[in-house]
Amino acid sequence: MTDRLVLVINCGSSSLKFALLSESDNKPLLSGLAERLGTAEGVMNWKAGEIREQVPIRDGRHSTAMSSLLPLIERFAHQPLVAVGHRIVHGGEHFTGASIINDEVIDAIQQASALAPLHNPAQLTGIDEAMKVFSDIPHIAIFDTAFHQSMPAHAYRYALPEYLYTEHGVRRYGFHGTSHRYVSSQASLLLGMQPDQGAWLTAHLGNGCSTCAILDGQSLDTSMGMTPLEGLVMGTRSGDVDPNLHSHLARTLGWDLDRIDHMLNRESGLLGLSGLSNDMRTLVAAREEGHDGATLAVDVFCYRLARSLAGLAVALPRIDGLIFTGGIGENSPLVRELTISHLALFGLNIDPAANATPPGNPARQIQAANSPAILVIPTDEERQITEECLELLDAKATQPVEQEA
Ligand code: ADP
Repeated sequence: MTDRLVLVINCGSSSLKFALLSESDNKPLLSGLAERLGTAEGVMNWKAGEIREQVPIRDGRHSTAMSSLLPLIERFAHQPLVAVGHRIVHGGEHFTGASIINDEVIDAIQQASALAPLHNPAQLTGIDEAMKVFSDIPHIAIFDTAFHQSMPAHAYRYALPEYLYTEHGVRRYGFHGTSHRYVSSQASLLLGMQPDQGAWLTAHLGNGCSTCAILDGQSLDTSMGMTPLEGLVMGTRSGDVDPNLHSHLARTLGWDLDRIDHMLNRESGLLGLSGLSNDMRTLVAAREEGHDGATLAVDVFCYRLARSLAGLAVALPRIDGLIFTGGIGENSPLVRELTISHLALFGLNIDPAANATPPGNPARQIQAANSPAILVIPTDEERQITEECLELLDAKATQPVEQEA
């Protein structure tokens, strides 16, 4: 069988992340990040095996970053690419899975831009530039929201007037779908089930954080909502607050919406609570030194996380396991321990030795005897995107050719 290659692209307004993956090898053949695009200090760092290099992107243009990729692909791809997979943050209600990018798909991503104004336009730029450079292969969109389209109405509707949903798309969408899907299928395999079997609670804890309830490969509820601000405490995002906070700040401090938006997205979360840092490593170290802000930030983070997981449990008929992933979920024994300490009601109990992060951080179980499974599973969104691209290509290849009328 040929070993098919996929280039995965995640384009932000000032960055371009990429990875070249093969069907058979878990490690990317090439991966990298172009940063500070839009400035004269644009730079691309990449690695392939032991080789690491830095390339200046002097004009700071996305198009230059994308065309700098071509010689790298020619150097490290052992055969032609079969597809380019694009990570897209918001697909609105239009997309329930991976989609080959055509004019209609581009229109739908544009329409969803109102719901993700910081992400979707940048990702459309990435699609546009990549289609120019890699013009003769399919481009496939993979949406962060698509996995959560299986949520029932009672989980995705807000208690707001109906026309805000029907006419303006105001509902809960959820994000991080690629990661929740990946780690839950890995958990199924680890516990000897089929990849789409099992009742899971997942906690993706990176700079952005969300939880999800998954039954037999379907998302039934998740903590993020219409935007990635709802739900858990995150690095700089507040997560849930009283919706009246906005009018209170406007009335009492005279803040406008941009100021409130900035505060909730950039000055809150772990950073706001601790007054020190948005980075969990810094906070765990400062907490050990007795820093009050860091101690409070970690305590609130873990309590609110446990509360979210307990709430999502009502979506499931049973719990086969609780999964931690993302930079914090994979690497912080303290966060896992504190979170589980609030979940004794569910019989969850951690094994301290197994909870310590081993070198290499493999996927593993960390529960004590007679506790439901607690798993640490490193996420791999690029691998999941590659698999979804290949599944879509396979499905297209086996579709009957349409007869002309
Ligand atoms: P992103 O959402 O940007 O992909 P990551 O998944 O890489 O982010 O997660 C970043 C977070 O993971 C940061 O808060 C970082 O401090 C935290 N993290 C990484 N390693 C550790 C560690 N050993 N202990 C605690 N937190 C960690």
